[in-house]
Amino acid sequence: MPDYNRIKMMDLPLEYQTHKGEIDAAMQAVLQRGDFIKGESVKQFEKAFANYLGVSNVVSCGNGTDALQLALMALGIGENDEVILPAFSYVAAIEAVSLLKAKPVLVDVDMKYFQIDTDNLKQKITSQTKAIIAVHLFGQCADIDVLADIAKQHHLYLIEDCAQSIGTTYSGKHLGTFGAIACTSFFPTKNLSCYGDGGALYTNDDDLAKKVRMLAAHGQSEKYRHHIVGVNSRLDSLHAALLNVKLNYLEKYLARKKEIVTLYKEQLDSLQDIQLPLIYRTVNHSWHQFTILVQHGKRDELRKYLKDHGIDSMVYYPLVLNQQEAYKHIVGYCPNSDSLIDKVLSLPIQPYLKNHEVSYICEIIHEFYGG
Ligand SMILES: *Cc1c(COP(=O)(O)O)cnc(C)c1O
Repeated sequence: MPDYNRIKMMDLPLEYQTHKGEIDAAMQAVLQRGDFIKGESVKQFEKAFANYLGVSNVVSCGNGTDALQLALMALGIGENDEVILPAFSYVAAIEAVSLLKAKPVLVDVDMKYFQIDTDNLKQKITSQTKAIIAVHLFGQCADIDVLADIAKQHHLYLIEDCAQSIGTTYSGKHLGTFGAIACTSFFPTKNLSCYGDGGALYTNDDDLAKKVRMLAAHGQSEKYRHHIVGVNSRLDSLHAALLNVKLNYLEKYLARKKEIVTLYKEQLDSLQDIQLPLIYRTVNHSWHQFTILVQHGKRDELRKYLKDHGIDSMVYYPLVLNQQEAYKHIVGYCPNSDSLIDKVLSLPIQPYLKNHEVSYICEIIHEFYGG
């Protein structure tokens, strides 16, 4: 291994060091005010984030999974309702639907962009279908025009899971503004992240936002007046203070990720054995992940080769959702998802990755293929 430190998927300590002065000051202000719950920084962040997204309401909450559950609760989804969601995805959506005793219905994804296959989706709509959860996977954009049309035509709620797509825009608008409501996460690995858990919902529907706010605060309309059964889900003031600092750098991080993508594409384009990520139509991609497809059953071998050369990579996701023990009872074979789980490999694409590190990663991949 040459003279490099391990190349990690994320480098949050380096990010902290870079903005230490500003972050410390923002956190100190909260510590001195002592408004740890629903403090000034939370209100400030909700406003700033809404402004960034171009949406009228942002309601912060405890994490992205809570956000999905709150969205479903606010839309009145429960027992016997069917909710359509992608089979190749993170577990949060299927989990939230299941917890509310609604029925998750799995839809396959396409092999090019790894997003919901809208033709497959149309076949899954029944008289019980109430909502579609469109996960914008890896920072890419699901086929949002078509999904919005389908939702309108069949009177379904379109919920956008933007946990991986903060910063992605489509036809000049931020994702999350195309459906009834959007959910996102500030988990440390996301494009905009806390040093812990955090999440938010956003919508242009003021009444829906109000309902979500009530649900996230024990169903209360005012202090100690509980109108509906809710939950306790909040973004901490300390985390909001951090997010206020980081939101100012988000576009800079995203621009750097784009540069890294260009470098990867220049240096890996000649390899026939891997498929580089494709960009869907006119999407301004936020590159939550840079996920390649490794052909001919070589994925795990390549991953090990990278690891042995000091390079981290990840497999998002190693199983189709209904291959997970908890969701085995959910029927529906999704052949594309089944094929993707053996081929996907996500390479490092965090904003602090250096050009020479990207070159080194590409070099090692070429070396693996005998180049
Ligand atoms: C991270 C993630 C979530 C959940 O977010 P948490 O904050 O970890 O609960 C939901 N959906 C997707 C697609 C995610 O990537």
